Amino acid sequence: MKKIILLLTVILAMSLTINSKTENTTMIPGNAEIVKCPYCGTEKELMTLISGNTFDAEYWSDNKRIAPMLPHVSPVQKCPNCGKYFFEHKNRHGESKNTSFDCGELTFSEWKEAYKQFQAEGLDGDEMTNIQFWVVQSYNDYFYRNSIISVKPSEEDYQLFSEMVVGFIESFDWKPVKHPLLKAELYREANCMKECKEVLESIPYDDLEDFEKSIFNDIKRRMESNDNIVFKLSV
Ligand SMILES: [Zn+2]
Repeated sequence: MKKIILLLTVILAMSLTINSKTENTTMIPGNAEIVKCPYCGTEKELMTLISGNTFDAEYWSDNKRIAPMLPHVSPVQKCPNCGKYFFEHKNRHGESKNTSFDCGELTFSEWKEAYKQFQAEGLDGDEMTNIQFWVVQSYNDYFYRNSIISVKPSEEDYQLFSEMVVGFIESFDWKPVKHPLLKAELYREANCMKECKEVLESIPYDDLEDFEKSIFNDIKRRMESNDNIVFKLSV
């Protein structure tokens, strides 16, 4: 599960490489994957791709990549029958003859429900860490990325968001991460500017790649002006 969370610098470095050799801009769907609800047995068909690419992709400071030609299936799915949430990778049930473009993406309020359900079921460890991260990205999707009209987060939503950020930071294993820019960024988004500053100060600036320096400076500038909003990376 940990592999699902690609860290900021890793995902960017990879995508820059992919983009530099993008010639093929087609997206070809494969046979749909069948997932089965572990609670009521209802099946649903999800998209698979034979080929896709990162053409026209956007990268955001909370590690979100939006690639129109490389959409991905939500790691947590909602059952269309009983409404319960389950992990996609644990409930695969073969391949359909059809193709599907359904990624089963959850809205922010569904992610909140999913979090509550998993919490009540006693989910913990890496899986809970990942859920917290997805709630964080979904909050940013809803309030800052996808909304047509600008909706301000309520006090309650911001509090949940901050709890998810801190919960994620505290339970994620940062040891293998060379330059934890994402950690600094998430502290900033949760308004923990002191912690954000400490993380930035622990990163040896001169060792960073150029694109990392640019992200570092963007985070620092926003931290200094007490801005806690997610931002699109200029890559
Ligand atoms: Zn169900």
